[in-house]
Amino acid sequence: MYDYDLLVVGSANADLVIGVERRPGAGETVLGSDLAVHPGGKGANQAVAAARLGARTALLARVGDDGHGRLLLDSQRAAGVDTVGVLVGGAPTGVALITVDPSGDNSIVVSPGANGRLTPQDVRTAASLFHASRVVSTQLEIPLETVVEVVRNLAPGSRFVLNPSPPRPLPAEVLTACDPLIVNEHEAKVVLGDAAGVSDEPEDWARLLLAKGPRSVVVTLGGEGALVASADGVARVPSVTVHAVDTTGAGDAFTAALAWRLGAGEPLAEAAAYAARVGAAAVTKEGAQVSFPTAAEVAGL
Ligand code: ADP
Repeated sequence: MYDYDLLVVGSANADLVIGVERRPGAGETVLGSDLAVHPGGKGANQAVAAARLGARTALLARVGDDGHGRLLLDSQRAAGVDTVGVLVGGAPTGVALITVDPSGDNSIVVSPGANGRLTPQDVRTAASLFHASRVVSTQLEIPLETVVEVVRNLAPGSRFVLNPSPPRPLPAEVLTACDPLIVNEHEAKVVLGDAAGVSDEPEDWARLLLAKGPRSVVVTLGGEGALVASADGVARVPSVTVHAVDTTGAGDAFTAALAWRLGAGEPLAEAAAYAARVGAAAVTKEGAQVSFPTAAEVAGL
């Protein structure tokens, strides 16, 4: 009945990465390593992660009419994502300028570019994609007004999943549509605002977030796994023990896997346990999109 298991509405960025001995101060120039260019952005990452697992996936995003935009379209298509909803033009493709120092710490400057031009009108124009999709997933690297329009355009019976990253306070209209709201510890604190101060316990944050209106909440805890919260209560989802090499994109892979399994009808705790395996697999390899596993690799973990 649905053409797509998952529609991802979100960002697509080119990640430009240079290794440096140390960062330049104001007015200073330093030499770095060769430039590495990777497809990234939370929306593009989620779409690739879902498609690689076998989900029938579409992406609604905006890229520039430039080489970075073509890189992003190519990586989506190579993973099997339907790019019919990827709009081209209006601004340069979003870029993340990343320097990595010898200790592995990142400094990042993001130019949202075309991501900032994904408008509520673009969402309305894509109505047929919404009607064809069982689950719709977004993040906050696109304008909040566009996310609000996504919620207003959900087809009856479809499910909405939000990872509010980068985090900001959310309007009730968005919160109440989430099933689930997926947050890491930092995102939980920002979405809760002052209410986060009452406890240091992620279990309490999960309950407090649920009280803000989502039908369900998932708090991801890195190597500690995750918590799921719904009207049935709060439950812990164990992590899978792996040798972590690079956690970039783990949250995107987790969210995509969770959205897909929920759409397939799995209960929240079961879908989150599968997503935890996908997140764990993603941290065993360097990079974001290149680290996302196939279903066979998840089964073999
Ligand atoms: P984010 O990248 O959004 O901060 P997390 O770091 O919480 O998200 O990771 C998302 C999920 O990926 C976790 O809930 C967990 O299931 C899995 N994961 C992340 N880091 C590890 C790790 N070191 N070992 C095993 N699983 C991990």
